[in-house]
Amino acid sequence: MRPIDRGAHPVNLDNTPIVFPEYSHARQFLIDQLGEYCSYCEMHLDASLAVEHVKPKNPNPHLALAWDNFLLSCTNCNSIKGDQDINLSDYYWPDSDNTSQVFCYQRGGVIQINLALNANEQLIATKTLELTGLTRTPINNPTASDRRWNNRREAWDMAERARQRLLSADTQEMREQIVDTARAKGYWSVWMAVFADDADICNRLIDAFPGTCRFCQDTHFTKPSYCMHKDICIS
Ligand SMILES: [Zn+2]
Repeated sequence: MRPIDRGAHPVNLDNTPIVFPEYSHARQFLIDQLGEYCSYCEMHLDASLAVEHVKPKNPNPHLALAWDNFLLSCTNCNSIKGDQDINLSDYYWPDSDNTSQVFCYQRGGVIQINLALNANEQLIATKTLELTGLTRTPINNPTASDRRWNNRREAWDMAERARQRLLSADTQEMREQIVDTARAKGYWSVWMAVFADDADICNRLIDAFPGTCRFCQDTHFTKPSYCMHKDICIS
């Protein structure tokens, strides 16, 4: 899950905070900041990308228009997460935790929990996957409308082919093409996993996907004070 920074509440030209009459009015600001990607499954979407409330708006009406409660999500992640009220600390969140350390993306687009996490962190990670249904496949949950697993698998295969082509023709143009393809397909975490040994491609991917928290990629955690992401304690 890509660690993201939605930035400060958008302001008007006179620096006053923009008031959203409806939460849907925040959509373009969120897309400008985070790109057209689901904040949970990382799918690239355009028309059907919705403003997502981290804490659901029905049980928390005071947060319905709160910028800090907004992310972007696809129909599947949004509907599976649903309207149940939640404690934020029971889950990991891409806008507040270093989620790049929580999940491992593997061949076939499979998402697994980082086994270097301690037992409590693995429990939180498991609950996060359950909340969003991110481990669903036709085998364990035959929901025909949920194509996230398949799109993630396609992204993995695409990234693998790109890596093979790069091995036979390593040029600047090829590297730029790979990042352009990744931006169009989405699934930043998948591309980062496939190109984990190529620091140049990883840096390009971090720069190319809007709102990616660069400091979460720093294993020495030399973060500036404004970075909101909490590191996961690798034991
Ligand atoms: Zn999604």
